Amino acid sequence: MAEPDGRTLGDEEVAAAERVIRSGMLNSVWGTEARALEREVAELHGVRHAVSASSGTAALHLAVVAAAPDPGDEIITTPITDFGTVAPILAQNAVPVFADVDPSDGNLDPAAVAGLIGPRTRAIMAVHLFGAPARLGELRELASDAGVMLIEDCAQAWSSVLPDGRPVGGVGDVGCLSLQQWKHITCGDGGLAVTSSDELARRMRLFADKGWDRAAGRSHASFGLNYRMTELQAAVARAQLAKLPGVVRSRRSTALELLGLLEGLPDVVLPRPEGHAWWLFPLIVPDAAALAERLRAAGVPARAGYLEAPLNRAPVWDAPIYGTSRYPLEGYEPRPCPVAEELVGRTLLVVEWNEHYTPEHVALIAKVIRTGP
Ligand SMILES: *Cc1c(COP(=O)(O)O)cnc(C)c1O
Repeated sequence: MAEPDGRTLGDEEVAAAERVIRSGMLNSVWGTEARALEREVAELHGVRHAVSASSGTAALHLAVVAAAPDPGDEIITTPITDFGTVAPILAQNAVPVFADVDPSDGNLDPAAVAGLIGPRTRAIMAVHLFGAPARLGELRELASDAGVMLIEDCAQAWSSVLPDGRPVGGVGDVGCLSLQQWKHITCGDGGLAVTSSDELARRMRLFADKGWDRAAGRSHASFGLNYRMTELQAAVARAQLAKLPGVVRSRRSTALELLGLLEGLPDVVLPRPEGHAWWLFPLIVPDAAALAERLRAAGVPARAGYLEAPLNRAPVWDAPIYGTSRYPLEGYEPRPCPVAEELVGRTLLVVEWNEHYTPEHVALIAKVIRTGP
């Protein structure tokens, strides 16, 4: 199969990078590209602020910083995600609490989350897995009732849409996006955190810039790191942002074709297309490993499980976190998540998806899937 990686990099990105280099200013503190990207991404999500960062993980770290957990406080999240969702929790000395997932799509199960909210909970981090919108209405209500922050990890969900028609990212207190190489759009690495809260935006901007309040001179208001996006990243990301509608339109159109061709297959749970942005095309089947093998043999990039193991079973929980210290995880044992373990261990299959797939690609994928378990 041709072009499985399906990137849309071209003359526009070359011109953007050249524009920045010729300007002589590559740093976003004094440049214009990152600020322009922030305005464009905020507008796209219907929020007041977007804070650019060096990666999606950095943007998620900003969101956790904005939630301001005390050391040892808990953040509830999903075990089926990129480790970039979880690393920021550890970086802030907080404790990840894994809630089990909805068996139909691998997104957080609000009932499981509800059972884990306690006095030390500071935030719920939802992930829109593979581009399928999480059950955000219920999670929003849980977070608001508990007085904790809702963070949306939208790294796989550029342009995913909620049932009420709003784009993902603006319902949580903070929404986080990634521009890493294999996301819908890319500048290699990069990220943004979006919010409508002036106060949360202020905390995130400070943390991303060494706690440096630039209006106050060379003065450091709070602890922070350097998570600044460069002008080169931002300019390329702006060129990519202009292509996002086409990228998502194309992914949706071929994904719908495949759904049509797979309809009625026994023992296969198909993804629900509503609001889906199709970062990957997930299927739930009796034996994901066998099907992934057959797809790969036919030249279709596909994987069983997405992860080696759900993150509640990752080796990191048996290792020290800082030096020889496991603080604040002494005695910590991640909770079992039987639904996530069954999905990742046995039944979840992800077919790589991209905007260059043609009807011929789709027909081949459907044929392999239809020819047996
Ligand atoms: C890619 C990804 C991240 C991390 O983003 P980076 O830009 O790679 O740091 C976080 N969460 C999810 C769900 C992702 O897919």
